[in-house]
Amino acid sequence: MNICQKCRECCKFKKDEEYFAPLFTKKEIEIIGADKNLFKKKGKGVFQIKLVKSKIDENILVCPFLNEDTHLCKIYPNRPFDCKIWPFIFMKEGKSIFLGCFKKEFCEITKQKSEEEFQKYLYSVFEWIETNKIEELIKKYPDLIWEKENDTIILKEFSI
Ligand code: SF4
Ligand code: SF4
Repeated sequence: MNICQKCRECCKFKKDEEYFAPLFTKKEIEIIGADKNLFKKKGKGVFQIKLVKSKIDENILVCPFLNEDTHLCKIYPNRPFDCKIWPFIFMKEGKSIFLGCFKKEFCEITKQKSEEEFQKYLYSVFEWIETNKIEELIKKYPDLIWEKENDTIILKEFSI
């Protein structure tokens, strides 16, 4: 069951959270045909969207692909991998690479699930990772992997 509340909290950021703006591969930018000036280089073949000031709250930064009136993503079918996999995140610590997430309350998708539902959901995410050859994507673009944050939960380690 899709219980995304379309709050788009994952597309809005506090002023000191620019570091967390979503990442796009060069190919993902080409697919949406976006102006390259909207991005800054983050790594090899990996770019980070430059956040813009919210038109609703000047203290908030938003992804420029967020329609603040409808709370929808303007490029939803072609949103980058980094957004597709949310609320999960590929992270690294030392030589370890793993899938993790912030605490469950961070996003309605995970917050509303019982432990059993969460485990089923997680299993479907593992299948999605396999079906979509995400390990190959990560190998090709290692800079898509985020540094581990302190308040994240490790869910599965990958040997990529
Ligand atoms: S994925 Fe989570 S945080 Fe993002 S819009 Fe949906 S409910 Fe909100
Ligand atoms: S690309 Fe879409 S889903 Fe991703 S942060 Fe921007 S508006 Fe949100």
